[in-house]
Amino acid sequence: MLYKSTRNSQLRLEASQVIVQGISEEGGLFVPESFPDLSGGELPKLIELEYPALAKVIFKKFLTDFTEDEIAACVDKAYTKEKFGDKSPVKLVSLPKNGEHKFLLELWHGPTCAFKDMALQILPQFLTTALRKNGGGKEAVILTATSGDTGKAALEGFKDVPGTRILVFYPRDGVSPMQKRQMATQEGQNVAVCAIEGNFDDAQAGVKAIFTNSQLKSRLLEHNMLFSSANSINWGRLLPQIVYYVYAYLELVRTEQITLGKPMDVVVPTGNFGNILAAYYARKMGLPIRKLVCASNANNVLTDFIRTGTYDRRREFYATSSPSMDILISSNLERLLYDLSGEDSSLLSSWMKGLSENGVYSVGEAVLKKVQELFYGGFCGESGTAQTVRELWEKEHYLCDTHTAVAVDVYRQYLGNIDNSSVPAVIASTANPYKFSASVLEALGQTAVENDFENLGKLEEITGINAPEQLRRLCEKEERFAQIIPKDQAAEYVLTTLGIGG
Ligand SMILES: *Cc1c(COP(=O)(O)O)cnc(C)c1O
Repeated sequence: MLYKSTRNSQLRLEASQVIVQGISEEGGLFVPESFPDLSGGELPKLIELEYPALAKVIFKKFLTDFTEDEIAACVDKAYTKEKFGDKSPVKLVSLPKNGEHKFLLELWHGPTCAFKDMALQILPQFLTTALRKNGGGKEAVILTATSGDTGKAALEGFKDVPGTRILVFYPRDGVSPMQKRQMATQEGQNVAVCAIEGNFDDAQAGVKAIFTNSQLKSRLLEHNMLFSSANSINWGRLLPQIVYYVYAYLELVRTEQITLGKPMDVVVPTGNFGNILAAYYARKMGLPIRKLVCASNANNVLTDFIRTGTYDRRREFYATSSPSMDILISSNLERLLYDLSGEDSSLLSSWMKGLSENGVYSVGEAVLKKVQELFYGGFCGESGTAQTVRELWEKEHYLCDTHTAVAVDVYRQYLGNIDNSSVPAVIASTANPYKFSASVLEALGQTAVENDFENLGKLEEITGINAPEQLRRLCEKEERFAQIIPKDQAAEYVLTTLGIGG
């Protein structure tokens, strides 16, 4: 299996190369040249597999320059009971209610309590394996822009991993107090964290600019280092996310909620379009998925896109109670459009140029039609989010976080728009509610205070549900990182931190 770039059809690279490189030199994203088919008799054989075994089967199809032993070693180090609390790192919770056949796919049982752990616990394994193959002994410098959860998950995944350094940028006022504290107290000798005066898109643009700056690249090479990415633009982030959609489907079959071959719907709270793209790829591999429901918060650029075919980021940016979705440039949409436009890399390049130069592009009727056949787009504002958290708690006794609430609300909107509602829906539950204690408390009608640990304690008191240990213990930890930089100074910060500035 080789990989090409969405903006350069000539390129052919091995899996290990695209994982090390992260993003293509001309700014495109790496995509597999084909997708293996699971539907032709293979799916039934996977039913009995436990999560790690299933992951190995799927990874083997895509990481063709990794040996079977290498893949097994990566998986066995990542999805341990020690890190995820159980032998299955994910859980599928059934919440049936008045015609809703909904299943919450809890993806947040990992070390940092958000779904990002599913990919970021294994990416360092993939990357160090890939570096052994073609890194030439270089040290990998992982640059990461975060809207809150990626940063912490990447730091946890890469901390003290030999041969790597990790630098994380987050928007100063764009993350929850708990997210900030998680990052500021990060341990490890090879880590650095820095706040940017700007929003997530500024942080992401700064990081992308560093990746495509050839001068910086040669400066690093002189010091035997290379840049790589832990953002969902890295193929090594997306691939692990395909697995849990397959797993969820098989779990529905195992528990006799669905007969093999019958479809499910998938609902995903979306920001950078990574998680939902993984579901699309699973569908492309033959997993029976009827509709992909793309749920946005008040930053509803994707809802508008799915409804009109015009992607227009020229709009107000809202800081919401679901900060990990406060994004106006959803990078991974590029991969979907590459696919739906018949892999037309020159068309893709022109759309992306339109986006970066004018903030807008339109995909035209034919592509829009394909988008709408596959996706339903909807959004949920702040009051709807709070109301959904409260309703789920009061009526279904399920405590969910704000991101998951957005997805549940949009699922309900979607149900109001379709005829056949007997199809079960798997809703991605992306964070532990205690990660957003203040917002969840307020949604339950309580007053939140400045100190997030008090909020956490109060939420435990009201609900009787224990907060995860790793969040509770944060209050005892010492803060190590407090630096804030203007948004155009990310490159200088990187060079200084690596000790190769000036
Ligand atoms: C990152 C994140 C999202 C959005 O996922 P994308 O892959 O960026 O679309 C949703 N919810 C939570 C809690 C997240 O951390």
